[in-house]
Amino acid sequence: MTRSPFSLPRFAATCRARLLELLFPPACVVCGEAIPEATCAAFCWTCLEEFQEFFPPYCPGCGAAVPHPIEEGKTCGHCGGEKTRYDRAVTLAPYDGLLREQLLRAKKPTGEQVAVALAHRLLERHGEALRAAELDVVCPVPMHWRRRLRRMTNSPSTMASVIAQQLGVPLASGLLVRRRYTVPQFQLSPTDRQANVRGAFRVAAGHKLQSAHVLLVDDILTTGATVTQATRALRIAGAAKVTVVAVARSYSDR
Ligand SMILES: [Zn+2]
Ligand SMILES: [Zn+2]
Repeated sequence: MTRSPFSLPRFAATCRARLLELLFPPACVVCGEAIPEATCAAFCWTCLEEFQEFFPPYCPGCGAAVPHPIEEGKTCGHCGGEKTRYDRAVTLAPYDGLLREQLLRAKKPTGEQVAVALAHRLLERHGEALRAAELDVVCPVPMHWRRRLRRMTNSPSTMASVIAQQLGVPLASGLLVRRRYTVPQFQLSPTDRQANVRGAFRVAAGHKLQSAHVLLVDDILTTGATVTQATRALRIAGAAKVTVVAVARSYSDR
């Protein structure tokens, strides 16, 4: 039996989408400027330029642009030159200026739309590489419940769900658990950050990661202390590979 390619419900849905676009043209989530060629990321080109995104070659330790390709098993000077415990990190741009503002906005209860747009932008730039990485599961760096309760939002979790859905990889939001409440990393020196998060994570009971490739999602990558400890927990539970993805790379030592 052959089926007609024409489907009335699909045609009606397309018409409805076109009508909505005419009535409410897609606008930049930062400045409200109409976006003529809509992308899922919902940032206009002027705002995107202000992000000053990284272009290859990248440092495998932090995802930042480096002047020359880095040899296998090494990282950039900011990462300390040595291989990280996770396999590779992918980041969009430096934690600075407009991107910093947007990440702070994404942390607020009204900022979910910004978190979604940033996740889409990450995928526009790095989705192809992440698709080729043969990921098995996506999980966010967890926030302690006390902080989650105070903020009423969790941008790494929102970003992880967009990334998982777009890549077609299962999302395991509860895979990693914070064992204890930790002082926010930005309040500490680089040395104290390592001690602050040491042993802070564990894999939730009932999860087996036999040889899995895990994509760990966070909003900002600074010294890498948090994702290193999260990677440690994932490896103990059997993960074979851990790729880290974060929107911004921060060099701040505040
Ligand atoms: Zn804009
Ligand atoms: Zn680096």
